[in-house]
Parts: sequence; structure tokens; C-alpha cells
Amino acid sequence: MIIAVDGPTASGKGTIAKQLADHFGLPHLDTGLLYRAVGRQVALNGGDPDSEADALAACDFPDELLQDEILRSEAVGGLASRVSVHPSVREALFERQRAFAEQPGGAVLDGRDIGTVIAPDADVKLFITASVQERARRRWLEMTGREIEIPLSEIEADIVRRDARDINRKDAPLKAAEDAMIIDTTAFDKDQAFEAVLEAVEQKLR
Ligand code: C5P
Repeated sequence: MIIAVDGPTASGKGTIAKQLADHFGLPHLDTGLLYRAVGRQVALNGGDPDSEADALAACDFPDELLQDEILRSEAVGGLASRVSVHPSVREALFERQRAFAEQPGGAVLDGRDIGTVIAPDADVKLFITASVQERARRRWLEMTGREIEIPLSEIEADIVRRDARDINRKDAPLKAAEDAMIIDTTAFDKDQAFEAVLEAVEQKLR
């Protein structure tokens, strides 16, 4: 069984994908991490994330980079969103994601284009969303918890910028697949969000 979990930045899709993987005993791939690794590698190479050639050259990042905590930073998230607009970068990362999805027994993948491009054949497609204000508030709480001081307004502005880049890019833009179940978690806490997701998934599988 393949489960595709898409949605905008800070929508909670990563947590939900992990919970689903645990629940169904499936392996999980956070595809955003691959784009983050490319963004980080461009910086390490002294390249320009807006140059397609520089971004493509960074696609052969070493696997160990995927373990680096720095990939989770806001700065690297911003670089990831810039390198991910280049079609050749998306193509270079395609096979790795497709192979993960096709493994025997299935998998859970989360990202922006799983239900539309990577696994259009997924058994279950979810599109997790929440308001910009709520996503900014969650990210701010998470960062404050890690003792990172950053104004809420700055996080909100960054989310708006990243949404615009992800939605408006020509290649594999962020959008719900036609057959995706859209779940808005604005009014839910983590447990309620997972409960709503599980109910939708179980209904779909019935
Ligand atoms: O999900 P995460 O915030 O880690 O993703 C970082 C960036 O990588 C996103 O803003 C998006 O531009 C890009 N991305 C993508 N396609 C995916 C996953 C992530 O374009 N499947």
C-alpha cells in the first residue's frame, strides 16, 4: 500500500506521515529532506540556489548529509524551496522517490507532489493543510521550544513566500491531486489531526 501525504510547509504533514507509517508498519520517506540536502549542498559548494546548473550539481550530495540536523533549519528550508523549482533537480530526485514508493509492501511518502507526480497510483492520497496564521504559530512554538528567538511575523512572512514559490512553480507545483482527501487541521491539535486522518484513511480502505 502506498500512502501519499502532501501539503504546504508546516502543515503537520510530516508528523502525520510518520504516525501513519507507525500505525500501518510501513517505511516512511520525508521527501522534503532530499530537497533540503540539495539546498545545503549548493551552499557548501559555494553555488547559487537559483542557478539550475549549480542546483543540479548539488544533487549528488553524500548520503550522510541526510542525517545532518542543520537540514531542519529555516535557512536550509528556504534554500530547498529555491532549488526545488528547477525541473532538472526534480528529475534527478525522481527515481530515488519512485523506488522508495515501489518497494514491496508499500510505503508512506510526504512532500508536495507525491500524489500528483511521484506516486499518482497511490492507494491513499492525503492533502494536509492549515491556515497560514496557524502554521506560523505552530512553527513559532516549535522554534521557541528549541530556544530559537524569532518574531512570529517573520515566520509568517517566510511561510507566505514559500507557499507562493511552491504553488506557482511550473514543474510539479504544490496542489492537491484530484482524488486526494483534503484535511484542514487549523482547528485541531496533533491528536485530533491524526484521529481525523486515520478515520479518512480507514474509510477509504474499507
Ligand atoms: O517539506 P519541507 O519543508 O522539508 O520541504 C522543503 C522544500 O522542498 C519545500 O518548500 C518545497 O519547495 C520542496 N519540496 C518539493 N517537493 C517535495 C518536497 C519538498 O518541492 N516533494
